[in-house]
Amino acid sequence: MTNTSWHDRAAGLKFDGRAFINGQRVAAQSGATLDCISPVDGRKLVDVARCDALDIDAAVTAARTAFEDRRWAGLAPAVRKRTMIKFADLMLQHRDELALLETLDMGKPIKYSRSVDVPAAANCIRWYGEAVDKIYDEIAPTPDTTLALITREPVGVVAAIVPWNYPMLMASWKIAPALAVGNSVVLKPSEKSPLSALRLAEIALEAGIPPGVFNVVPGYGHEAGSALALHMDVDCIGFTGSTRIGKQIMQYAGQSNLKRVWTELGGKSPNIVCADCPDLDAAVRAAVGSIYFNQGESCNAPSRLFVEASIKEQFIAKALALVPNFQPGDPLDEATVMGAVVDNVQLNSVLDFIESGKAEGAQLLAGGNQVRSESGGYYIEPTLFNNVNSTMKIAREEIFGPVLSVLGFTDLNDAIRAANATAFGLQAAVWTSDIRKAHQTARALRAGTVHVNQYDEDDMTVPFGGYKQSGNGRDKSLHAFDKYTELKTTWIKIV
Ligand code: NAD
Repeated sequence: MTNTSWHDRAAGLKFDGRAFINGQRVAAQSGATLDCISPVDGRKLVDVARCDALDIDAAVTAARTAFEDRRWAGLAPAVRKRTMIKFADLMLQHRDELALLETLDMGKPIKYSRSVDVPAAANCIRWYGEAVDKIYDEIAPTPDTTLALITREPVGVVAAIVPWNYPMLMASWKIAPALAVGNSVVLKPSEKSPLSALRLAEIALEAGIPPGVFNVVPGYGHEAGSALALHMDVDCIGFTGSTRIGKQIMQYAGQSNLKRVWTELGGKSPNIVCADCPDLDAAVRAAVGSIYFNQGESCNAPSRLFVEASIKEQFIAKALALVPNFQPGDPLDEATVMGAVVDNVQLNSVLDFIESGKAEGAQLLAGGNQVRSESGGYYIEPTLFNNVNSTMKIAREEIFGPVLSVLGFTDLNDAIRAANATAFGLQAAVWTSDIRKAHQTARALRAGTVHVNQYDEDDMTVPFGGYKQSGNGRDKSLHAFDKYTELKTTWIKIV
């Protein structure tokens, strides 16, 4: 599709910001709405239902009713599988529309929403659908006189609360395993990016997921989100978002019904490049490409780059040669690789971090400015700081923007210690030709995922999640089923 046609298509797109409860589009019961603003150009796309506790209660009631009458949970796994596969197929049939919604709603380039987000989300739905009729339960090795069955059952009503950086994909990582095993779901998308989730609910219904099984309730975190997390009839929450709100979600569970809480939270991932790195150009491409991908709004972005002193200058020169390739452009232009940050609040937050880096003495080598402000949207240059040290704010806190901090090291053990000296533990990487060093470093790094000599590998088959304050439990892979099922033991006397 040409760039003009993406713009034409965007102009002709019909948006619907109403909630999706019990198989129907509905306004918030209060009638309240919030403005859905596109970061591409600052224009208002549509009024979105500003749901609150009343709407959450209606959605949870619909989900509970659907769960109890077993309209979905009671179907054979092979039937749920076929429905999930149809859901995924329909998502791909609506690929351009879903990609456009994602780009207009949160600013990422159409190139990636079409080639990464939609196919990856559809693949996730398909993968869990395909898996669910291939999993067996267990029989315990008890004495002959008894039989002990260990079975998995859906937990019941699952709440999914997700962020705005990969709206459809983060939602899919929750709803796919939860739905596949027979739960009912209430999804609360971010108030900054609700449109693709709302459309997904319609597509799921069209695929045959019964009304009430998958509900989407947009609104603010402190209204709709907290009502969902405090609800007495929600059995489990899959939360992805900031560490700060993750802590609050755990408190809500403690204040209400001790619902199970699974969290995927923030990160400040270290990327350690040793002088014996096997391919310096590949390391540079990965370091730069991974921090600027998705405007730096990735929980696993390698935002702290530790480079061994003897190659640091060379590494930085190569990195600086690549930085201009990531200059932000029109997200609806297929050539654009970096788009707009999600909103004005995020723009100012990232600019504040950049100011703090300068004030604390880091050396700004590239970027640092807002650009394309004439568009009405929110764009920041790819930014690179050198001579950062671990005490600086830009090295300690999650920026969630296109800002790379370069730190040096001479002793790998010091680099590992500094890499681990953070509240987060989502991902990490080491680049070296020495297999012993690679293994030792991978073991020493406290992170849910460690990369060796690459940063890009990703697959539905591997778990994704964090150590420490980056969260608990894992999304993706068969391990995600653990989060949305209860383990039941049934003893049967047979003699
Ligand atoms: P956020 O924590 O502000 O919001 C996440 C969700 O929680 C949103 O839907 C929001 O409306 C809701 N929320 C906010 N306050 C709430 C409250 N009081 N009660 C209930 N819900 C509430 O995060 P964000 O700014 O949307 O997303 C960015 C964060 O997400 C970053 O920290 C990033 O690292 C993290 N993230 C983590 C992963 C991962 O897999 N570990 C993936 C993507 C994003």
